[in-house]
Amino acid sequence: MRLPIYLDSQSTTPVDPRVLEEMIPYFSDSYGNAASIDHNYGSEAANAVEAGRQKIAQCLNAHSDDIVFTSGATESNNIAILGTMARNENIGDHIIACVTEHKSVLDTCKHLEAIGKRVTYVPVDEFGTINLEKLENAITDRTVLISVMVANNEIGTIAPVEDIGEIARRHNVLFHTDAAQAAGHIPLNVENMKADLVSISAHKMYGPKGVGALYIRRENLAAKPFPLMFGGGHEKGVRSGTLNVPGIVGFGKAFEIAVEEMAREKVRYDKWVKQMLDVFQHKAEPVRQNGHPEKRLSHNLNVSFDQVENKALIHVVAPKLAISTGSACTTLNVEPSHVIMALGFGPERAHNAVRIGFGRFNSEEEIEFAAGSIVSAVDRLHKIRIMR
Ligand code: PMP
Repeated sequence: MRLPIYLDSQSTTPVDPRVLEEMIPYFSDSYGNAASIDHNYGSEAANAVEAGRQKIAQCLNAHSDDIVFTSGATESNNIAILGTMARNENIGDHIIACVTEHKSVLDTCKHLEAIGKRVTYVPVDEFGTINLEKLENAITDRTVLISVMVANNEIGTIAPVEDIGEIARRHNVLFHTDAAQAAGHIPLNVENMKADLVSISAHKMYGPKGVGALYIRRENLAAKPFPLMFGGGHEKGVRSGTLNVPGIVGFGKAFEIAVEEMAREKVRYDKWVKQMLDVFQHKAEPVRQNGHPEKRLSHNLNVSFDQVENKALIHVVAPKLAISTGSACTTLNVEPSHVIMALGFGPERAHNAVRIGFGRFNSEEEIEFAAGSIVSAVDRLHKIRIMR
């Protein structure tokens, strides 16, 4: 067993060796620029990119022409939101997002507010599920876009995206969904979701970091974002910049494997979540699960132990376990998680929330060890508190 045991799969995942193997030739053997196709080096790279695009499109039930490569979900979210708001400036100035979105959506919305656009943040219930009635009521004749993530990165709650897509289409509003946490973990289908824009990222599904994609429903002209970067006009003018060929090759392979193995993985994670919760409930009470008990990513477990601050718990277990408070992008903040706060239980529950993320390379033995380590750390912290 390698210590500390990695249990932070929502933050990132290691590159699967099968993915790495496919990528290696594209670093220093087939190293051509996919946009310089006057020779073999370039066309080899271009073919590899198109094969990756095909695989990714297939995993989303999309057309490969509708996939644009980016540097990750942060960039995809920025292009989707800023780009479509700019494209549709003459139609409206209003966007609707969920309060529990990732910072790459929320901070983009804040920027839009700063430049005079209007944003409505729709609340969630105690499980983190968006209120559909409030979402629909927020739509006005100035609404351009609804942006609601498929699955939350902290608590794993899965949103009713098919219903949201239905609402958006009924009102002739664009629907963007951040699927960074969902892609490769639950089935995704752009048609069922009626999504116009979908953000995904390779490093959340055992692919490399620094590569992502944005699905853009091109048949809907309003969905084509204005570019945020100008240059060689790559990716149909939406995202200029030389393509990350090895990254794209790895992304395609990673997504293919993830979809293939999804059902099998789910069985393991469901068992581990149940196992861990059982141990916590018997040996580290009171403990509360954050997020939806069923409509959730099966590899995510978010819990708050009463009177045990998350930073203290994470510190105590750190030599043995790599667990986190939630979003990696906000770990430098001392503010309690905006996601747990949005559930409405108050700041203590948020200050106590820890996220445990299971992954492909974890073993049963590791999970048992991790559960035991967390229980003893909770016990130790309870005792320290009583002595104070
Ligand atoms: N959205 C969600 C829901 C995420 O979890 C993350 C990763 N923390 C991102 C967007 C950003 O993705 P990337 O790291 O690829 O920029």
